[in-house]
Amino acid sequence: MNAEQVTGMMHAVEKALQAQRDELNRLDSQLGDGDHGTGLCEGFAEAVRRIDALENPAPGDILQAAAMALMNRMGGASGALYGTLFLRAGTSITDKDVLSPDDIAGMWQAGLDGVMQRGKAQPGDKTMIDALAPAAEAFRHAVEAGDDLAGAFGRAADAARNGALRTSELIAQHGRAKFVGERGVGHVDAGAMSIAVMFEAIRDYFDERDG
Ligand code: ADP
Ligand code: MG
Repeated sequence: MNAEQVTGMMHAVEKALQAQRDELNRLDSQLGDGDHGTGLCEGFAEAVRRIDALENPAPGDILQAAAMALMNRMGGASGALYGTLFLRAGTSITDKDVLSPDDIAGMWQAGLDGVMQRGKAQPGDKTMIDALAPAAEAFRHAVEAGDDLAGAFGRAADAARNGALRTSELIAQHGRAKFVGERGVGHVDAGAMSIAVMFEAIRDYFDERDG
């Protein structure tokens, strides 16, 4: 994956989040304050503006520019967490011009580790981790099994979507949703769903390129 593809991937994510903005707000309104879609859309709109202004960026520069935009513009608990995800992903690939499937697997793992350190959430706590952790793991397994990028992102997207849907059964241990507690059972976590939307957008981007 080269810089042009990383840029294309970020644009695809931005478009998909815009399309899902109202749905993500609706999910967040059931467990939180209803702003997750709006915050993400503002953050990613700024991210793609900054990415497009970069001259000859390396893949890591693109992800770091996105991280700064998300931290500055998104606000809320998840602005810092999404920012950390892309910052750690970006710093894990500093100086590389082309990313191997292995590099990309390491990038998701670094991002996941960063979000877990920063937010202190574990799998099962009904957060974005419940989509991100299975996606990172599925991506790694697919790469080890020899899948191409489109295949690996397909596996990651399925794992993220399944993980997000399973948050419905969980009781939130972090963020605003913690105050809803057991009454939140039956509702999907918005941050987990936005992670699924992100991986699905990346999968579709690589499917269209390859197909
Ligand atoms: P806010 O809660 O500040 O309004 P958002 O609505 O943008 O922020 O994001 C809420 C999402 O953030 C939740 O759905 C959850 O997935 C995620 N989240 C909240 N706290 C944590 C945490 N400590 N670790 C991981 N993810 C978290
Ligand atoms: Mg919110």
